[in-house]
Amino acid sequence: MTKTLDFDVLIIGGGATGLSAALYASRAMLKTAVVEKLAPGGQIMLTDVIENYPGFPDGVTGPELARLYEDQSVKYGAEILYDTITSIDVTGSSKTVVGSDYEFNAKSVIIASGGDHNKLGVPGEDTFSGKGVSYCATCDGNFFRNVPVAVVGGGDSALQESLYLTQMTESVTIIHRRDQLRASRILQQRALNNPKIDFRWNSAVVEAHGNGEMEYLDLKDTRTGELSKLTIPGLFIFIGFHPNTQFISKSGIEFDGGGHIITNMAMETNIPGIFAGGDVRSNSHRQLGTAVGDGITAALSAFHYLEDSI
Ligand SMILES: Cc1cc2nc3c(=O)[nH]c(=O)nc-3n(C[C@H](O)[C@H](O)[C@H](O)COP(=O)(O)OP(=O)(O)OC[C@H]3O[C@@H](n4cnc5c(N)ncnc54)[C@H](O)[C@@H]3O)c2cc1C
Repeated sequence: MTKTLDFDVLIIGGGATGLSAALYASRAMLKTAVVEKLAPGGQIMLTDVIENYPGFPDGVTGPELARLYEDQSVKYGAEILYDTITSIDVTGSSKTVVGSDYEFNAKSVIIASGGDHNKLGVPGEDTFSGKGVSYCATCDGNFFRNVPVAVVGGGDSALQESLYLTQMTESVTIIHRRDQLRASRILQQRALNNPKIDFRWNSAVVEAHGNGEMEYLDLKDTRTGELSKLTIPGLFIFIGFHPNTQFISKSGIEFDGGGHIITNMAMETNIPGIFAGGDVRSNSHRQLGTAVGDGITAALSAFHYLEDSI
């Protein structure tokens, strides 16, 4: 039989956003739980070293930071529960959140379910993730100071991130499977006119190789099938990001065109009592620091919502 639990604030997702929200909600004496389907930490569990998170001048590993976030929120009374949330009913003043093992009645809900970067799905991609392969220029660009890097993608984010990477790297080779870009005209012009950017048109990465760190890529000509080798220590993949919102697809919560949750600056969604923040929300910068800020904002907004509804 499904166990039913009651909370003032139920947080879906135990990444940086969810654990920061849990710290603030539990310190405000609200009965708070974080429901996490895997392990607390979320995306930061995939990263060896984080250099751009304030307060850690020598960097910090993702798993260490996740442990600190978890310890700090649990210290003030937040509960961490393991379950996969499958649906939410937002119609009543008390929200019903359904998981595989539990059902929750919550006076307020914070959705902090993050998302995942789309992958190429080629051999070597996972092996060299964090060892040459990256999905975030702001996070990892500095590891490639004055060396050449490659970028995969032809949309706005691929070009925006390529232009950013030109500031610290020696050069950027954009690998694109077609001979035309999908990005906006203005970004195309800037990239095409940038002397540090060159293009490998009609090309696809088929495998990443190296010895400990990534060293070179096998490329395939998408028209002829001909194979070639590109010696390069860095590969940035920008072929999309999918937010984890399947479980709220029928809830009435509003999304943008990319499936991210629309919020205002207080992290309020269109449904009173439902808040969202971090990588799952529309227009997120998808950085650790901004995720933490969103989590804190969402928790403070939930606190004010609960105060007003007494
Ligand atoms: C490899 C890598 C390196 C990075 N490096 C940096 C860096 O150096 N600096 C930086 O600022 N940012 C970095 N980032 C980005 C940063 O990690 C994210 O912006 C941030 O962690 C997002 O936090 P979040 O809590 O919003 O989402 P997430 O971290 O995605 O957490 C969401 C959590 O929700 C859980 N969840 C999802 N659906 C459900 C469900 N249905 N039921 C229950 N739980 C669910 C997930 O399991 C996950 O734990 C990096 C990201 C990656 C992938």
